[in-house]
Amino acid sequence: MLRKSLFIKFSLILLAVALFFSACARQENAPQGSLDNNREGEVQTPSNKDRDKAGTVDEKLIVTSFYPIYVFTVNIAKDVPNVKVVNLTEPQTGCLHDYQLLPSDLKTLSKADIFVYNGAGLESFLDKVIEQLPGLKLVEASKDIPLLKDENGEENPHVWVSISGAIEEVRNIADQLSSLDPENKELYMANSSEYIKKLEALKEKMTNSLKDIKTRDIVTFHEAFPYFAQEFDLNIVAVVEREPGTEPSAGELREIIEDINTRGTRVIFAEPQYSPRAAESIAAQTNAKVYFLDPVATGPKDAPADSYEKAMEENLKVLVEALK
Ligand SMILES: [Zn+2]
Repeated sequence: MLRKSLFIKFSLILLAVALFFSACARQENAPQGSLDNNREGEVQTPSNKDRDKAGTVDEKLIVTSFYPIYVFTVNIAKDVPNVKVVNLTEPQTGCLHDYQLLPSDLKTLSKADIFVYNGAGLESFLDKVIEQLPGLKLVEASKDIPLLKDENGEENPHVWVSISGAIEEVRNIADQLSSLDPENKELYMANSSEYIKKLEALKEKMTNSLKDIKTRDIVTFHEAFPYFAQEFDLNIVAVVEREPGTEPSAGELREIIEDINTRGTRVIFAEPQYSPRAAESIAAQTNAKVYFLDPVATGPKDAPADSYEKAMEENLKVLVEALK
């Protein structure tokens, strides 16, 4: 009895060893890098087809942290074979200042080859990602971009809100994707320069349209607009909510109202994604009017590639109307 069970155990071990080695051999035989199974002249054998069916075609999964980074990356990776771009957070999430990673987010990231994020402190969960997934390749959109600081010396991460910042981020993403995935470098570079040309044209159009506006003082909703204001020579007099979702205190409200009345500021910009309640209550106590300015931190699901330009064109219309 004992001998029989020992024999069974030994057989099982042998079987396991055999299976292990055959699995290794199969992996060694599998094509490396891009699984270009349809190379010219290559005969499609049944085993090749089976491999395809088994899902071993090496599709690269690029995960982006949030909406604007997703839109930029979709443009850069346009028509690149076997590359899929997926956004980690829902497109309506907005800035990720206080975002808490969900277990499903870590699951998505664990399947990713590359994670593209804004950086400059925006993704406060980044340390956790690096700690949990040390092998994940990272692309930092704001790398080496000089950052504006607030009065407390804190760096402002909203680089993409100015078109120059967007262009620099696109360049960064394309460069870093190219070195992580050199096989597709030419496509990434060609796509990004085509996209940058469109963004340059947009920047020129906006600069020209805003050259002769009469009002340059504005109040914005959250800290998203310093780069944008710098680009178009606007002056942010006050910010309604330092962090979206954190309503200003009575004292802060009084201060903002005082600033607006002293300077005669006529324009408060709320953001389409957040409640304009605080902005409206300020407007009611001043001569200012509420308009909506979009920091392009959110957008529709499966956003078309030109979503950033579309949102900025809308912003331009609002600005021309509000600041005339
Ligand atoms: Zn923000």
